[in-house]
Amino acid sequence: MTDYLNELNESQRAAVLYNDGPSLVIAGAGSGKTRVLTYKIAYLLDNGYEPWSILALTFTNKAAREMKERIARRVGAERARYLWMGTFHSIFSRILRTEAAAIGFSANFTIYDAADSKSLIKAIIKEMQLDDKVYKPGVVQSRISNAKNHLMLPDAYAASRELYENDQAAKIPAVRDIYRRYWERCRQSDAMDFDDLLVYAYILFQTHPELCDKYASRFRYVLVDEYQDTNYAQHCIVLQLTEKYRHVCVVGDDAQSIYSFRGANIDNILKFTSLYKDARLFKLEQNYRSTQTIVKAANSLIEKNREQIRKEVFSENDKGEPITVFNAYSDVEEGEIVANKIAQLRTKKGYSYDEFAVLYRTNAQSRIFEEALRKRGVPYRIYGGLSFYQRKEIKDVIAYFRLAVNPNDEEAFKRVINYPARGIGNTTLNKIIDAANVHRVSLWKVLNEPLTYGVSLTKGTHTKLQAFRDLIAGFVEAVSHTGAYELGKDIVRQSGIINDIYQDRSPENLSRQENIEELINGMHDFCADREEEGNTHILLTDYLSEVSLLTDQDSEGADDAPKVTLMTIHSAKGLEFKNVFVVGLEENLFPSPMAGDSYKQLEEERRLFYVAITRAEEHCFLSFAKTRFKYGKVEFSNPSRFLKDIDARYLNLPQEDIVSRKVEEGAKRFRREMDSDTPRYISGNSPSMFDGGEIPEEPRRFVKPAAPRVLRRIPAAETSVGTSASSPAVNGVCAGKQIEHERFGIGEIIKVEGSGDNCKATVRFRNAGEKQLLLKFARFKII
Ligand code: ATP
Ligand code: MG
Repeated sequence: MTDYLNELNESQRAAVLYNDGPSLVIAGAGSGKTRVLTYKIAYLLDNGYEPWSILALTFTNKAAREMKERIARRVGAERARYLWMGTFHSIFSRILRTEAAAIGFSANFTIYDAADSKSLIKAIIKEMQLDDKVYKPGVVQSRISNAKNHLMLPDAYAASRELYENDQAAKIPAVRDIYRRYWERCRQSDAMDFDDLLVYAYILFQTHPELCDKYASRFRYVLVDEYQDTNYAQHCIVLQLTEKYRHVCVVGDDAQSIYSFRGANIDNILKFTSLYKDARLFKLEQNYRSTQTIVKAANSLIEKNREQIRKEVFSENDKGEPITVFNAYSDVEEGEIVANKIAQLRTKKGYSYDEFAVLYRTNAQSRIFEEALRKRGVPYRIYGGLSFYQRKEIKDVIAYFRLAVNPNDEEAFKRVINYPARGIGNTTLNKIIDAANVHRVSLWKVLNEPLTYGVSLTKGTHTKLQAFRDLIAGFVEAVSHTGAYELGKDIVRQSGIINDIYQDRSPENLSRQENIEELINGMHDFCADREEEGNTHILLTDYLSEVSLLTDQDSEGADDAPKVTLMTIHSAKGLEFKNVFVVGLEENLFPSPMAGDSYKQLEEERRLFYVAITRAEEHCFLSFAKTRFKYGKVEFSNPSRFLKDIDARYLNLPQEDIVSRKVEEGAKRFRREMDSDTPRYISGNSPSMFDGGEIPEEPRRFVKPAAPRVLRRIPAAETSVGTSASSPAVNGVCAGKQIEHERFGIGEIIKVEGSGDNCKATVRFRNAGEKQLLLKFARFKII
C-alpha cells in the first residue's frame, strides 16, 4: 500500500514518516520539498486521516491543483477531492464566507481586486482634498497593504509613532487617515481586499476562540509549501490553527524568498523554530531536477549572498552542458535568437513545445518574444499581463454580477451606475457618495431612499435612478433561485451591455463581443464541471467567489496543445521545465532599477535569478541585449552584474580570438573584487568591467556568433583594413554618406572613428537624432 515510499530518498522518507509533532523542511531548489508534502499527504490518508482533516496551503491555485492530481493518482480521485488544498486566499475566503456573520460581513461579501482597491483609495484621497500627485494612490495602497500584512489595523497604525514619522518623512502624513477611511468604506460596502482575507481570518480566530478551535480540530494536519514567502499575517494564521494540536509541516528555501516587497519575511522560518522548539528540522540535499552543471552554477551564484542559511545541494543527474550566454545586439534580436534556438532544439533533440519556458523580470518584456515566436510559427502561452478578467468589458459585466450578489459593493456601483449611459452624471453620483459618507451607509442604501439621506434630486434624475435601482433589485432578487449561467446571460442582456457593444461591427467591438461570449461560455463550463462533481443549482455567488480569486498564474488556455511558456520569474516559482531561457540580463532591468543601492534588495534580485536558473532541468540559456527599446526610445545597456556571479566554469562563453587588453584588465579587476571581502554591490553604480561610455565596451566574455540578420550588416572584416588600422574611412563608411538603419531610419554619417571591432560611426538621423553606432553590430545599408 505504501510502495510509493520507495520513490523517496532516505531524508525525504524520514520527513514524510515523521508525524508526531511540528516539522520543518529547509532545502535548496529541486530537492523534493513539494514532493515530500505530496507524499506526506498520501501517507496520512493511508494512515487514518480523513481528506477533509488535511489542510495544504500552496502558493498558487495551480500548484494546489497539480498536487491534488498527483495525490488522486495514489489514493483515488474521490478521496482526494475532499482535501482542503489551495492558496491562503482561497482557503480563508471560503472559511470567511461560512463564518462571515461573526465578523459583521455577509456571506456574499465582495472581494476587491487590486484595481478596485486602488480606485477606492484614489476616491478617498480626492474626497479628503489631498493632492494625488503627493499622495500617489499606488504608494498609499502599498503602505496600507504592508500594514495589513503585518496585522496592523487602523488604530494601531495611527498609534504607531514610527509609521507616522515614516509617512511624515515621505511627506504623506495623512496615510493613517486615508487608511481608516478606506477600512470603513470597505466594511460599508461589505467588501474585503486581498489583504483583508488574511487580516479578517486572523481577527476571526483571535476574537472567536471557539471558531479557532473548530478549525484547529478540523484540520488535524496543516502543511505549507513555499514557506519562505509567507508574510507575517499568514505565519500567524498557521500558528493559530496549529498551536494546540501541533501537527504542522512547513517546507521552504530561504534562497528562494522573492516576495519581500509583498511583506514576505524569511524570518518566519527562523521564528517557526523558536516558537515550536521541538520542531524537527529536515534537510534535503540532493537535487533531482537539474543537471550537475546547472546545480553548480546556481550554487556559485547564490553563494554571493551574505544572508542565507548555508546548505549543500548536489545533483547525481548527468553533468549536462554548460549554460550558454547569448549576447544580442537588440531586444528584437534577443527574441529572434530565443525563437531560433527553440525551433532548433525541438527539431534536433525532439523536445515538445511545452518543454520550453522563457522567463523575464518584467511583463513588459513579453511582447518581443511573442512577436518572435509568432513569426517563427512557435505556439506559446503567456501568463500575466492583462489577464482576461482585467479587460474593460469583462470588468463591466462582472461589476453587474457583483452588484447582483452584493448591491452594497461601492466600486461595482460606481463602475456601472452610468454604464451603459443612462444619463446619470457625476454630480448626482457625488451627491450619493457624500450622503453615504455622512451617514456611514452604502451607496445602495442611499439610492434606495435618497430623501431619507437628504439627497435632493430633480424629477428626471430621480426617475433615472429609480430605473437603475429596479434593474439591480431585479438581479438581486434572482440571485437566490436562478442558476449562474442563466442569470449571467440575463444580466448581460438586460443591463444594456449587449446593445451597447453590438451597436457596430468595428474590430474593437467584435473582440469585446467575443470576450463576453467567452465569459458566458466559461460560466457554462463552470456550472457543468460543478454539476459533474455532484453539486446542483450552481449560483452566481459560487461563480463569483471562484473568479475573484483567479490570479494570472491560474489562467489556463482553452486548448491543451503543447506550447512554450512565457512568464515572469516570480510566477515560475515551484515549476520546472526541460529548457529554460532567462532573458534580459541587463543592468537596470535585472537587477531591477528599483533595487537601487540597497544591498538587501540586490540580494533579493539575486535570489530571483537563482529561482530562474533552478527551474531548468536539462538546458539553461541566459541572454542580454545591448540595446533595448524602453520608454519610447532606444537605450544602450550593460550586461547584468549577476552574470559575473556565476562561476565561469559552468558557462559557455566562446573565446574571442583577439582579447583586448582593456577587457583583460577589466577581468583582473573583477577577479580582485571577487576575492575581496567587502560587499561588492552595495552601490547601484558599482564598477563593472562592462561599464563604458555611451557605447558599452563589447563584453567579449559573452560574445556568441550573431544570428542571421534581416538587413545586411557590414561584416567586421569589411569595416576594417586590419585590426591595427586607424583609418576611419573603411569600405565606403565615411563621413557624408547617407545610410538607412533598420531601426533609426535614414541618416547621415558625421564621423567615423576607432578601428577593427571598435570602429564606430556618429550618425545624424532624420527622425531619431544623433546616435553612435558600433559598426560591427550596426544594421544599416549605405544608400
Ligand atoms: P522548488 O524549490 O523549486 O520548489 P522542490 O524542492 O519543491 O523544488 P520538487 O519540485 O518536489 O522540488 O522536486 C523536483 C523534481 O525532482 C521533481 O520533478 C520531482 O518529481 C523530482 N524528485 C524529487 N525527489 C525525487 C526522488 N527521490 N526520486 C526521483 N525524483 C525526485
Ligand atoms: Mg517546490
